[in-house]
Amino acid sequence: MKELTCIVCPRGCRLTIDDELNVTGNSCPRGAQYAKDELTNPKRMITSFMRVKNRENCVVSVKTSTSIPKGKIFDVMEEINKVGVDAPTHIGDIAISNVLGLGADIVITKNIK
Ligand code: SF4
Repeated sequence: MKELTCIVCPRGCRLTIDDELNVTGNSCPRGAQYAKDELTNPKRMITSFMRVKNRENCVVSVKTSTSIPKGKIFDVMEEINKVGVDAPTHIGDIAISNVLGLGADIVITKNIK
């Protein structure tokens, strides 16, 4: 038996998961999926900053388009640190497509002229 707090939405339901991965305490199906993923293949969204190559001392905020396996966070951070982008940047631009083959893009979240 395991207990978790669902972090999918601000409601924060308290979840209980038994040994057969039956979930109780969730107010919607997303909570059950979150609990199962968390116990079998935990995933996280990443938010970070990426270097802007053609501006001095400038970075732009980025995030993953979807959650990635928790165990790959440092590898993805290395990729983000390796690659830079050129300004101008626009919210929604893809800085890295399908990062490390994980099915997630690195998406720019700030406009820079
Ligand atoms: S179980 Fe559903 S309602 Fe409850 S916190 Fe998770 S996503 Fe929100």
